[in-house]
Amino acid sequence: MTEHPAPDLRRDLVTASRILFMKNILDGFGHVSARDPEDPETFLISRNMAPGLVSRADIMRLDFDGNDVENSGHRPFLERFIHASIYRHRSDVNAIVHSHTASVLPFSISKGSTLEPVMHMSGFLGARVPVYEVRDHGHLGCDMLVRNSEMGDELARTLGDEAVILMRGHGMTVVAPDVRLAVFRAVYTDVNARVQTAALSMGEYTALTPGEASAADETNSAQNLRTWALWETQVQNGCAD
Ligand SMILES: [Zn+2]
Repeated sequence: MTEHPAPDLRRDLVTASRILFMKNILDGFGHVSARDPEDPETFLISRNMAPGLVSRADIMRLDFDGNDVENSGHRPFLERFIHASIYRHRSDVNAIVHSHTASVLPFSISKGSTLEPVMHMSGFLGARVPVYEVRDHGHLGCDMLVRNSEMGDELARTLGDEAVILMRGHGMTVVAPDVRLAVFRAVYTDVNARVQTAALSMGEYTALTPGEASAADETNSAQNLRTWALWETQVQNGCAD
């Protein structure tokens, strides 16, 4: 039986999942997905399991209502609506990472500091990183998880045209035109958060201007295959860093 879509994309998704675990972006939770280029109103994502253990047989295909279109029988992630809603709202997005990365979380709850690009590798953070606040949408006393299309749509609208959105007291979601760039952006959002936190501890600091961020993003978007090749080899060799 012909695998749908191209086997390369399923392989990349498995590799992405393992890289993101190796880099401590994902732990036992979180997920990465890719839009199916042959049926763009569906996307590929693993079944509900720890990302570091994902293999090709665990990949399932869902529609924008979160339904399993191949009847795989696998149990999907509760937060699949993050992916479904963003793909529905953003035709330019073909890959999404959702994580609960500890370095980023302080910027989702701080009343004084916002995440912003402070180094050239994270120019994709742009002029602003929006924060999704569930309470602003009437979700009081909820468990913070994006567990239906209503919340997914709120998240997607708050994301707007940006590459990264923080979710207050929960985590972050990163989007990109392809899986490899989504992995790059997720990894360097974490690095940027750690650098910015270190700079904050020293006092005042200088961030990139929107013009610097845009120029750096343009350069790095063409360079991310270098890091992908390195990280892919590391996970294939079972190396942790
Ligand atoms: Zn989550």
